Amino acid sequence: MNILVTGGAGYIGTHTCIALLEAGYSVIVADNLSNSKRESLEKIKTITNKEVLFYEIDVTNTQAVEEIFQQNSIDGVIHFAGLKSVGESVEKPFMYYQNNLVCTLVLINACLKYDVRRFVFSSSATVYGGNHVPFVETMNFSQTSNPYGETKAMCERILTDITNANPSFTVTLLRYFNPVGAHNSGLIGEAPNGIPNNLMPYVTQVAKGKQEYLNIFGNDYPTIDGTGVRDYIHVMDLAEGHVAALNTVTAGVHIYNLGTGQGTSVLQLIKIFEEVNGIVIRFKITDRRQGDIASCFADVSKARKELDWIAKRDLETMCKDAWRFEQNYNHQVM
Ligand code: NAD
Ligand code: UDP
Repeated sequence: MNILVTGGAGYIGTHTCIALLEAGYSVIVADNLSNSKRESLEKIKTITNKEVLFYEIDVTNTQAVEEIFQQNSIDGVIHFAGLKSVGESVEKPFMYYQNNLVCTLVLINACLKYDVRRFVFSSSATVYGGNHVPFVETMNFSQTSNPYGETKAMCERILTDITNANPSFTVTLLRYFNPVGAHNSGLIGEAPNGIPNNLMPYVTQVAKGKQEYLNIFGNDYPTIDGTGVRDYIHVMDLAEGHVAALNTVTAGVHIYNLGTGQGTSVLQLIKIFEEVNGIVIRFKITDRRQGDIASCFADVSKARKELDWIAKRDLETMCKDAWRFEQNYNHQVM
């Protein structure tokens, strides 16, 4: 089966390409390399010994997308392509709505036109907004706290309406919690441009001496030690969740949380990182980051029951794999 992976050169996309190739799928990647590098696709080949077919295109370009559908017999689409920085989305909302919504609309249009019925969409736990933890798929949400989250909620609604009007269409909305870590080869992982926004890449850069210390955004939350609690999931577990979603879906809209179900505070994560890697992480407590919530973790029972999928890798493995990749990866901090 041929799977079109948009954003397949990115962080989650590359790991998912590996999981797909290992599960016997053929992979076609469409990516404009706006937040990734061509070399990551070569690394996929080194790891799997299999080729992916690559189209360097912008997924907002209807004609370029349709050419892929004309030239290949596509059985399903996994749609990762999108902009993902919360802070940037507040500064440049138009760019976020334009890119993330148009990519999704162009792909849906191509799927309907070329009768491709399987569509897996990268959504986010951010859509749950201010609900109480653990987050369950049945929870309602109205307004998310930033334009990035809005693009995810809007794409979910668009895909739901279109599936309701096209009953043979099969859509799986995967709500990711906090993907971290890297492939255990150390060849691919998370390599953000500039100064990292997210916790784990910041921690690995402190470990490497690229950043002097970590700023912990607040220690006065109503959590176990006052620091923010998140549900960290190994990126390879997340990748395997996509294979499970492709393998088992039936017509209609299906929504799944992809997390571990376990909440971990910032201080707890730092302690594990220090213990497994034998490195001290210097930190300072600073003010809360605007828009952050105290706790975010998943109820994962639905994915376990219906997809027969569960996250297998523990926090120790996430910290070890993230650090292995950071040590291998040579990048500049801008
Ligand atoms: P990433 O930036 O590493 O990957 C996204 C890829 O999409 C990049 O390779 C980029 O070049 C490409 N892209 C962006 N716009 C494009 C366009 N118009 N045309 C073609 N390619 C385009 O991000 P990631 O962490 O791998 O995230 C993948 C998806 O998962 C995104 O949709 C993101 O919003 C979602 N997500 C990520 C997280 C996370 O914490 N990483 C959490 C929840 C959801
Ligand atoms: N965090 C932090 N310092 C950083 C980056 C993140 O203290 O430099 C905290 C953040 O406040 C949150 C947790 O780490 O409690 C995870 O943040 P991340 O940005 O990785 O994920 P998200 O906020 O999107 O869940």
